[in-house]
Amino acid sequence: ILPKDYEEAPHIKYASQVCHCTKVSRSVNMENLQNEYLFPEIFMREFVHTQKYPHARLIRLGVGNTTEPIPDIITSSMAEHAHALSTVQGYRGYGAEQGHMELRRAIAEKFYNNMGIEGDEVFVSDGAQCDISRLQQMLLGSNVTVAVQDPSFPAYIDSTVIAGRAGRFQEETGKYKNIVYLNCMPENNFFPDLSTASRADIIFFCSPNNPTGNAASQQQLKQLVEFAKANGSIIVYDSSYAAYISDDSPRSIYEIPGAREVAIEVSSFSKFAGFTGVRLGWTVVPDELLYANGFPVIKDYNRIVCTCFNGASNIAQAGGLACLSAEGYQAITTVVDYYKENAKIIVDTFRSLGLKVYGGKNAPYIWVHFPGLSSWDVFNEILEKTDIVTIPGKGFGPGGEEYIRVGAFAHRESILEASKRLKTLF
Ligand code: PLP
Repeated sequence: ILPKDYEEAPHIKYASQVCHCTKVSRSVNMENLQNEYLFPEIFMREFVHTQKYPHARLIRLGVGNTTEPIPDIITSSMAEHAHALSTVQGYRGYGAEQGHMELRRAIAEKFYNNMGIEGDEVFVSDGAQCDISRLQQMLLGSNVTVAVQDPSFPAYIDSTVIAGRAGRFQEETGKYKNIVYLNCMPENNFFPDLSTASRADIIFFCSPNNPTGNAASQQQLKQLVEFAKANGSIIVYDSSYAAYISDDSPRSIYEIPGAREVAIEVSSFSKFAGFTGVRLGWTVVPDELLYANGFPVIKDYNRIVCTCFNGASNIAQAGGLACLSAEGYQAITTVVDYYKENAKIIVDTFRSLGLKVYGGKNAPYIWVHFPGLSSWDVFNEILEKTDIVTIPGKGFGPGGEEYIRVGAFAHRESILEASKRLKTLF
């Protein structure tokens, strides 16, 4: 299938004729991956649907892609920086691999005030997903063991598989043999029972969580930090959705005493400032985080960033700095609030239909339960009958079966129209 007029469609080509094969064998780790990465798979199903129904007015509430314009104060700053590159005075080549110190300090001050994080512990990057991969592929040794929340953002598991740490995929359970799955369901307040959880070297923990939309409480994160400390594990904490928190849930793992000794935090400007296309994120590696032999993790991370990354775009960094100015921050908060209002409309819609709904309050994701049903069947039925794209929960791990994830990233008219269609369907 070759998508034509659809720029976001995955670039998948099935060769009709194989002409020449090299002698290079395919990585066994790549062969061990199950299906396509979830989001391109959703794009593909969307594309097939539009081929089948060319006049369908599709509403995309699936892949979490931002839709609202970036406030002018931020794009003006990027434009100004870009224009200055055409001048002798304003031209800049390579910058510091770790990011401009002004931005690193601004991130530390804005997001980690009173948490003891300094600018030189913040590494600016081209996005959280890229940092997750760099941690997995480069920083960590091949023999480390990994735990993930189930369900969870698929990049944690897939990058573990690509790094060759996952073991064989087991059809019966839908799990990889060597990954520890930490079940996070409504029954356990979306927090695993750590008294029975197996030890793992690395614990990926995302809060507010994608896909469940749940934000862990102070008490839960305290337990997580204690668990990591007792087991000598490192938490990789993903706070990409922290800007959506509406209650007093922690916005960073470093709000928890002792976290500096056990946690790396990965975060992003994508959903906070609409930078999904601009590309900007950061990772915090505290000085106190040490390997078993006492060597500081930050020194290795710095080495990886210098050797394998070379720094985020200076135009994107100018935008990032503008986001953290008083006026810029105010402007992007308005956009976040817009998505939060969308989320509320979706939550109310599903609740009015008598369904159990989670998330939406501290995250732009709504997690809807369809007891006894296959999540792919629910996804297909909603797409077929309402032209609305969601995501089947099972795509986020076996714990996501019976659920669908609905995203709040859309124009308000689309959300209202989706609400109308869903009420008619159910
Ligand atoms: N982490 C989580 C939990 C996400 O949901 C996403 C994107 O949806 C990312 C990271 C990717 O962020 P970025 O755009 O900064 O790579």
